[in-house]
Amino acid sequence: MPNQRLANLIDGRLQAPIRGAWLDVHEPATGAVFAHCPDSGAADVEAAVAAAGRAAAGWASTPVEERARALSRLADMIESRLEEFASLESRDSGKPVSLARRLDIPRAVSNLRHFAAAIMTWGSESHAMESGITGSGAINYTLRQPLGVVGCISPWNLPLYLFTWKIAPALAAGNTVVAKPSEVTPCTAALLGELSIAAGFPPGVLNIVHGPGPTVGQTIVEHPAVKAISFTGSTATGARIASAAAPQFKKVSLELGGKNPAIVFADADLGDANMAAIVRSGFANQGEICLCGSRVLVQRSIYAAFRERYLARVRALRVGDPNDMDSDLGALVSRAHCAKVLGCIEQARSDGGLVLCGGTALSLPGRCAGGWFVAPTVIEGLPSAAPTNQQEIFGPVVSLIPFEDEDEALAIANDSRYGLAASLWTQDLSRAHRLAGRLEFGIVWINCWLLRDLRTPFGGARQSGLGREGGNEALHFFTEAKNICIRY
Ligand code: NDP
Repeated sequence: MPNQRLANLIDGRLQAPIRGAWLDVHEPATGAVFAHCPDSGAADVEAAVAAAGRAAAGWASTPVEERARALSRLADMIESRLEEFASLESRDSGKPVSLARRLDIPRAVSNLRHFAAAIMTWGSESHAMESGITGSGAINYTLRQPLGVVGCISPWNLPLYLFTWKIAPALAAGNTVVAKPSEVTPCTAALLGELSIAAGFPPGVLNIVHGPGPTVGQTIVEHPAVKAISFTGSTATGARIASAAAPQFKKVSLELGGKNPAIVFADADLGDANMAAIVRSGFANQGEICLCGSRVLVQRSIYAAFRERYLARVRALRVGDPNDMDSDLGALVSRAHCAKVLGCIEQARSDGGLVLCGGTALSLPGRCAGGWFVAPTVIEGLPSAAPTNQQEIFGPVVSLIPFEDEDEALAIANDSRYGLAASLWTQDLSRAHRLAGRLEFGIVWINCWLLRDLRTPFGGARQSGLGREGGNEALHFFTEAKNICIRY
């Protein structure tokens, strides 16, 4: 059977790229090409922005109930085809199908449902001014109006999960969208695009243009009719987007990289559940989650004992065919990314790091012989300033770092240009609160990791991003506040 050709969604119709060019889409577990994605150009983006512009006024004045219904219908349609979505996501990204089924696809459904519900109960502010001695008071009310056409650009690691995390609040708030999923993992967004037609979004409300970031993504960012950009991806690309958007004073929301610490104190409850969570925080999704705890800081008094228990668990992780239900880790997303991760491990070795387990590519038998697999790797013996502890590796690589006391833990944790998420493992509640306030991160988890309430602000400090997503933060981002003051 010939490989499937994905289509752009423009103006409510599935369309081939105008110049007829296609990109290969690989299955990371085998290295084989299994689909082709549009290699779109500026003309496709232009058509999508024009369609979104034509649809903007109509969608902005569509009652919230109808907008919410369309989002809910789309959520229902994805949920009813969960197995298909999960297997496509796994095939496209290399992640275990069990993870896609448990995490990625249900979360995409929740994102759509969350913002469908949120927009129904969303209100704006009113501020009354007392009349005082002048005798004339005033009332202010704030309108939060959609921006018009907005751009949503998402990465390859949690493809549908992060794609919906952006388009759902944008659409709920009444904007029309030109979205670009990563060309590396375009499949589930393409399927969502197909379903969105039947879900009842009017033509032009949601447009999906596939293709490379530097061409399609950059054109969306620079287009004067696109009023805001919501981007998740690397810090380097985020900087490029910020500088391209700045001369036009576009709103930008940037969710970028991380080098997150998991800080384990001697008084932590290190029972099975928490040990499993700490290991998961390093290796879930092959370590390809921006929130992964890739620096595990351990209090020196328990360091040796912790290391042995941690290593035993990491060695027990099964790397295998993503289709196998018992695979804990699948393949890395691309040949290039796999080479980058292996290069980081080599750098750790040459800097004097001790590789305690893993440290190599894995070749699997049979169907997966050509796949891009890396053994879960744990390294110790490198100072905080070493590249291994500073660069985002974004793979199954964790570095162990001992510390003496709270002050040293804090200094090491904050010694990073990133500031996305930290996790703290302690039973001392006062210490937890004390440190949570001083950790320079957008998210602090205490005795847990990746526990997410979609209403909470999500985002990073320092070079991990700009702005916050989630709940009302996202609805604020995707609207323009206008204050109206009436004197009486
Ligand atoms: P990239 O920055 O390479 O790409 C992200 C998206 O931006 C892709 O769709 C990409 O397109 C596109 N893109 C690339 N260049 C441009 C450009 N010049 N203009 C506009 N768009 C562009 O990141 P990755 O896809 O490699 O994703 C991994 C990164 O994402 C990691 O650093 C990770 O930490 C971060 N991330 C952050 C999260 C957060 O919430 N803070 C969550 C998840 C990931 P294409 O791929 O098609 O070239």
